[in-house]
Amino acid sequence: MSSTSRIEWTDATWNPVRGCQKISPGCKHCYAEVFAERFRGVPGHPYEQGFDVRLVPEKLMEPFQWRKPRMVFVNSMSDLFQASIPDTYIVRVATVMSLANWHTYQILTKRAGRMGTLLRRELSFAANLPHIWWGVSVEDRKHGVPRIDQLRSAPARTRFLSVEPLIEDVGVIDLSAIHWVIVGGESGPHARPMRREWVDSLYSQCRAVRVPFFFKQWGGKRKSTSGRILYGRTFNEFPRMSACPQPSEHERLELEANFRDSDERRWGKCSSLLVQLTA
Ligand code: SF4
Repeated sequence: MSSTSRIEWTDATWNPVRGCQKISPGCKHCYAEVFAERFRGVPGHPYEQGFDVRLVPEKLMEPFQWRKPRMVFVNSMSDLFQASIPDTYIVRVATVMSLANWHTYQILTKRAGRMGTLLRRELSFAANLPHIWWGVSVEDRKHGVPRIDQLRSAPARTRFLSVEPLIEDVGVIDLSAIHWVIVGGESGPHARPMRREWVDSLYSQCRAVRVPFFFKQWGGKRKSTSGRILYGRTFNEFPRMSACPQPSEHERLELEANFRDSDERRWGKCSSLLVQLTA
């Protein structure tokens, strides 16, 4: 499967975890679940186990193998901070991100509490790295908006919100210490509608405090028809990029080999693993 992405705000996806458990209304029509379940039972397919949660350590090396710098959406087919993923595995993922620092990583979660806790402890080595952006999903007032405060209180250098699928007016939100906002409507056959005034409100709030605004899509049953034009233009704004320069081929291979050696010494040879669900 290609690692390049058609998601408008990234270049590539990286999935060292596959599968997830639903947690809030934003998950109702999870695209990752729909995609993964199509391949359940197909022998040898990466989603042979459908959307069951699975660690995929053989994917850990992937960022070392990409020569050109990319923006990388981490776990587009999962949620890194769901309860069943061991802390130690999350640290391995973050270690790769910290070493393969010529890419920019976008980590998005609905488990803002656990992300904050780990950023204060086991992930403190990665919290302040400028090429790693930490974000939360915000779909509504009840479940989504409280994640913003949890994110703000986490010791992260770059924080972002993915306000998608926007399924109700989220009202006035506190954008202090938030560095990027993505807004989008739900797409697919059962898409819940997104009203124009909800988008207007978020756009105005971002402009008022100069937070970069990315308008992903109007969504709906046919997202290609509804498009992503707002006020007669597209909005493709990003936070400031601060990835490190691309290493030489030799340096890149050495980094990969060193990581592989130390990871295998500690955890054994890579092989994927279904995890025991704990929540
Ligand atoms: S948290 Fe994300 S990946 Fe997990 S079920 Fe919800 S929408 Fe899908």
